[in-house]
Formats: sequence, structure tokens, C-alpha cells
Amino acid sequence: MSLSVAVLSRRSLLLAAMAGVFGSLWRPQPVLAASKAGDPSWDLKADQWRERLSPQAYDVLRNEGTERPFTSPLNGEKRSGTYHCAGCDAALFSSEAKFDSGTGWPSFWQPLDGAIATKVDFKLILPRTEYHCSRCGGHQGHVFNDRPRPTGKRYCNNGVALRFSPLDLIVVGVVLPAIWRRSLQPSRGFGGCWC
Ligand SMILES: [Zn+2]
Repeated sequence: MSLSVAVLSRRSLLLAAMAGVFGSLWRPQPVLAASKAGDPSWDLKADQWRERLSPQAYDVLRNEGTERPFTSPLNGEKRSGTYHCAGCDAALFSSEAKFDSGTGWPSFWQPLDGAIATKVDFKLILPRTEYHCSRCGGHQGHVFNDRPRPTGKRYCNNGVALRFSPLDLIVVGVVLPAIWRRSLQPSRGFGGCWC
């Protein structure tokens, strides 16, 4: 064996070894189940989730699927209100943190306090930060550090994993009944006694 052939062989072995190492590290991960529920009462079985969710919502929330871009009606939602988890109805985002990212998915620059939890996934080879509802563990989307205002973060959310509750419904359903109940209470101006 000549010297040049021996060097080439050694180099080939080294490249093959490196390819094997990086290949095993960078292999795309199989579809993952959703993250563990933070609230044990929401640690439901797959059949229970299937009963609660549409097939599309189940695929995203429980199998970490991704909806096709520009398919969610929530992309164009501009009313004031709150975005809830479609799995357990926990409030996740305020409309005040929503912006049009042009990506085709509802996008936010900040979640509500304690509403979500994160983990790193390698489904697209490069690491991404996945986030999910901290109560039921349902997958919501991925967060990226590519937006300037005001946090620099883009929470890229699957619309099918959210339910929007407009502020006017909250006013009609919660605030007005509270005012009405308060108006029925006896006045305390005279010690509450009218006799
Ligand atoms: Zn949830």
C-alpha cells in the first residue's frame, strides 16, 4: 500500500467515524407525546383527550403536530380578549401581546405569568424551544428570539391549540352579573336593617 493510499484510507475512516457520531446525534426525533401535565387532574389518557378534542387539535396538543400556516382564523383576530388552551381552557395569552408576524401562525411576544412551560426539541435537527400549557401539558408551539419588541421573543402558536375569549363576552358573562348581584345586596347605609 502506498503512503498516499494509506493516508486517504485513514482520512476516510475518520470521516466515516465522524459521520456516524454526528448522524446519531442529529437524527430527527420521532413524534413525541405531549409534555407531562403540571396539574395531575389534567393527566388524562389518550382516549380521554380524543373525546375532548377535534382530530386536528389532538394532533397538535397531544402529538406535538404543526398546523398548516395561514389556516387558523385566529391569525386575523384583532379583538381584545384572552387566548386559552384548547385542551384545558387555561388562559395563556392576552390579546395585548399579540402581533402579526407574517408567518401564518398566531404570534405573541409574551405569555401570561406561569401559563406555559418550555423544553428543547430536535424534531427539525436544530434545537428549538418548544412550549406547552403548564396545566395540561398540551403542546402550543415554539418560541424564537427573533423579534425586537418588547421582549425580543416570538411565541409562534398553533391556532387550533387555542380558544379565543373576547373581552365583550367576559363583560357580559362575568362583570355584568357581578354588578347585578351587588345591586341586589341590601344597603349597608343603615346597618342593613330596613324594619
Ligand atoms: Zn392546557
